[in-house]
Amino acid sequence: MIAEETFPEIREAVRRLCARFPGAYWRELDRERAYPTAFVQALTEAGFLSVLIPEEYSGSGLGLSAATAILEEIHRSGCNGGACHAQMYTMGTVLRHGTPAQKEAYLPKVASGELRLQAFGVTEPDAGTDTTRITTFARREGDRYIVNGRKLWISRAEHSDLMVLLCRTSPRSEEKSSAGMSVLLVDMRAAVGHGLTITPVRTMLNHATTELLFEDLEVPAENLVGEEGKGFRYILDGMNAERILIAAECIGDARFFIDRASQYAKDRVVFGRPIGENQGVQFPLARAHVQMTSASLMVDRAAQLFEAGRPCGTEANMAKLVASEASWFAADMALQTHGGFGFAEEYDIERKFRETRLYQVAPISTNLILSHVATHVLGQPKSF
Ligand SMILES: Cc1cc2nc3c(=O)[nH]c(=O)nc-3n(C[C@H](O)[C@H](O)[C@H](O)COP(=O)(O)OP(=O)(O)OC[C@H]3O[C@@H](n4cnc5c(N)ncnc54)[C@H](O)[C@@H]3O)c2cc1C
Repeated sequence: MIAEETFPEIREAVRRLCARFPGAYWRELDRERAYPTAFVQALTEAGFLSVLIPEEYSGSGLGLSAATAILEEIHRSGCNGGACHAQMYTMGTVLRHGTPAQKEAYLPKVASGELRLQAFGVTEPDAGTDTTRITTFARREGDRYIVNGRKLWISRAEHSDLMVLLCRTSPRSEEKSSAGMSVLLVDMRAAVGHGLTITPVRTMLNHATTELLFEDLEVPAENLVGEEGKGFRYILDGMNAERILIAAECIGDARFFIDRASQYAKDRVVFGRPIGENQGVQFPLARAHVQMTSASLMVDRAAQLFEAGRPCGTEANMAKLVASEASWFAADMALQTHGGFGFAEEYDIERKFRETRLYQVAPISTNLILSHVATHVLGQPKSF
């Protein structure tokens, strides 16, 4: 079964919801770099953001494939899930590694939307992709941690009640560089203004991303998730789900571009005939469809492995790579097909074009995926 045919009822419901948030809604927010509060509220109320939370914690307990269907449809509709997709999966760190008390305290409220757990603090300005080089440090003092350091590109921090924060609790050692990191659950409502400063970073797309400064922020020791020193492993555990879900958003974007370009190629008449009659216009469209369909099968495969509890790191990475390249090819094709009108804001092509470019860099850049495949699958020597 290809991805488009899965979960038809969920897809139809998502499409109906998204129809209430047309291009004009997103264009206005884009101009102001404003948060899509009404859209996120609607998704929350419809229960779409809690599908991965087990029923015992008041979620709907569906698998990752249902979540990919939801995000794909959001993006295919011209909307963007970036403002809230992390509400779906960030809770996974608590679900997999939290104490029973933490799960009871947080997960039902995340499921209902009463608590927004959609900030994920890993990246730092000086460490880049080499996460073992992070220096944000949490020093234990009695029943609390004192956190100092900086994070960059932390999305939705201003729109989150809780944040999963990766920090060092012991200095880095060359022998075991990934040891000595821990995960803390930071209550943003208590933290902002009391040791945490959030500064928005304006980017080429409307993504609510920020820089965070920690100056002696106090976090209760009971907010440690799992064991001290094992945080890197916990964060890695969550990355497969994130990559598969982002790949689904790319598939949705690619479908959006293909739908729009296809229609435009039929309607636009130049030299007395629809531009779609020219193979120079048809072929890129067809190629975009082929690439998107192939990538979507890879996304399905990765999601199936994830749901079966089987190792899927390589497949999740490969799905993200091919899907982000398919969406970018489709974006470029759609812009070209629309000619000058592709640059006009009212067509939404230029906005989605900017939005979909992100996925070749975040949450993981293409080169790092290629490096993973080269070394882990093909047995090449590690380059770093
Ligand atoms: C809009 C946006 C939102 C984000 N949201 C979040 C968030 O919510 N939370 C969070 O923690 N992070 C977030 N990020 C950070 C994102 O995950 C990183 O930007 C991404 O992983 C790349 O890291 P970097 O920017 O530090 O690039 P760098 O690590 O500095 O790399 C720069 C370039 O060099 C290449 N490169 C680096 N090392 C190698 C190598 N050894 N071999 C080959 N090529 C290499 C990379 O592929 C990349 O193209 C976000 C970023 C953006 C732009």
